[in-house]
Amino acid sequence: MRVARFTQGSDPRYALVEGDGDGAELVVISGDPIYMPVQPTGERVRLDDDGVRLLAPVIPRSKVVAVARNYVAHAEEMQVEVPERPLLFFKPNTSVIGPDDPIVVPEWSQRVEHEGELAVVIGKVTKDVSPEGALAHVFGYTCSNDVTARDVQRSEVQWARAKGFDTSCPLGPWIVLGLDAEDLEVTVRVNGERRQHGSTSQMVFDIPYLVSYVSEAFTLLPGDVILTGTPAGTGPLVHRDVVEVEVEGVGTLRNPVLRR
Ligand code: ZN
Repeated sequence: MRVARFTQGSDPRYALVEGDGDGAELVVISGDPIYMPVQPTGERVRLDDDGVRLLAPVIPRSKVVAVARNYVAHAEEMQVEVPERPLLFFKPNTSVIGPDDPIVVPEWSQRVEHEGELAVVIGKVTKDVSPEGALAHVFGYTCSNDVTARDVQRSEVQWARAKGFDTSCPLGPWIVLGLDAEDLEVTVRVNGERRQHGSTSQMVFDIPYLVSYVSEAFTLLPGDVILTGTPAGTGPLVHRDVVEVEVEGVGTLRNPVLRR
């Protein structure tokens, strides 16, 4: 099942996505399925209709927790060690944008990079959950781009500015429920050219472990999001680029890049 959040110009609504490509339809549901049972309203909307726009499928209730250096090959290209424990940081919910929204490169960075990642959307209040119990707290999965001002990340000890600026957290295009996320390909393309590629099976710390570990530090709320780290191949984004993050079994998150 795929859950999307969309607008036709007024308030955001939720829908199940049926079909693919040109035939895809939105089966409108009443309310946010993270908080209430899925109930179709009877209305259907074609995804490619004029005026239909997908939004970030979730606005994290309280936080996006991200995991650094969770793929060995990415740690190697960054010339840093793989940490003994997951290395965590936050992205504020104001950094979230949806499919096709522009990533706006901040004036104060000369080097902004893409980091395609699998994102975990939390479905229940989660505190001190065991790895064995963790997946029962997952609502579903979506694609994310942990956009990073790499020059600022290198020059500042805290990563709040480098990784938390407005538009630095594209999410989408929808949330997939009931997916086995242990071995999914993660691919990033810029202007159609492949830049990043890996599999979630290459994570240093797997999803059950991460959810458990994060929940030992922070209470996770329904709608919070965990970004699970990026595979090798991160690289620069410049004005007018189009960046795509594709996660196998989920879909493709596409965003243009803008420098004002
Ligand atoms: Zn990242």
